Amino acid sequence: MENIEKLFGMLNEHAEKIEKEHDTTLLEGLLDGLEAWLDGEVDFSQKDATKEDIRKAIQIAILKGMRKSSQPNHQMTPDTLGLLVGYFVEQIFAERLEHDKISIMDPAVGTGNLLLTVMNLLDGKVEATGVEVDELLIRLAAATADLTEQPISLYRQDALQDLLANPVDAVICDLPVGYYPNEEIALDYELCAQEGMSYAHHLFIEQSMNYTKEGGYLFFLAPSHLFDSEQSKQLHKYIQKHAWIQAIIQLPDSMFANKSLEKSIVILQKQSLEYKSPKEVLLAKVPNMQNKQALALFFEKVKMWKEGK
Ligand code: SAM
Repeated sequence: MENIEKLFGMLNEHAEKIEKEHDTTLLEGLLDGLEAWLDGEVDFSQKDATKEDIRKAIQIAILKGMRKSSQPNHQMTPDTLGLLVGYFVEQIFAERLEHDKISIMDPAVGTGNLLLTVMNLLDGKVEATGVEVDELLIRLAAATADLTEQPISLYRQDALQDLLANPVDAVICDLPVGYYPNEEIALDYELCAQEGMSYAHHLFIEQSMNYTKEGGYLFFLAPSHLFDSEQSKQLHKYIQKHAWIQAIIQLPDSMFANKSLEKSIVILQKQSLEYKSPKEVLLAKVPNMQNKQALALFFEKVKMWKEGK
């Protein structure tokens, strides 16, 4: 904790100084500090700081910067959600991870916090790709990946256009929710809306499938209303045709400011002739994190589901 506090203090001090002197935003000031640290112009390193200490200190500084800016796409996936996603990746790939690395892509990588939380959890076992359209966020992700020595290839582009990446074992993604503005590109998708604009979160699911190996897995943080919208019939059909639903895990309401922002973890497997559809779909609700007994029961349920797979 001490390392995190000290490092956050130094990053924040640098960011505030740059913000004031150069009339920029706090986030730009933070990026300046991270890049200066990487270039050896300043030294913020703490003795014995772990990769998690570095990620967490940067995360707190980014959160502070995001609170001050009013950019709607500046959202970071919090630790609790990242750790849960990481837990499921670890469970599903347990046998592979004993002797092999896996490839993961996050097509909406943002600040990299979700991807780096998972990579630090599975340290040394993941090679990753990230895509993000926002320049400031992807530069923050690149700097944090370098400082935590995690191997990520990053691409700054619209993730719904063709990607230069190879198919991966797993996609993880905190889906951007809303309408996708480029209707011409949307026409290339099976999930293009039949009327009006298409949902970006639906197109992201399809694009993620396009870049997943057959039999690979997709872990989405998706709006809880994913299967209840006016376009969800089309989504159901698409998923039935190309994937198997492995699990839908509702997250505690207390994690979200209001009902419309509630999210679930949706786990899909891309269909493959090599594998069979799951015997049982895991449908569960994560209890309030403070309720230790209910949490233990939840993890027991996941364990039983995994053993039955
Ligand atoms: N997991 C990320 C993190 O920990 O910082 C947060 C992801 S945030 C919920 C969704 C991200 O998708 C935003 O950073 C947004 O800029 C990005 N995004 C939205 N539309 C995009 C597109 N068409 N191509 C690439 N990125 C996009």
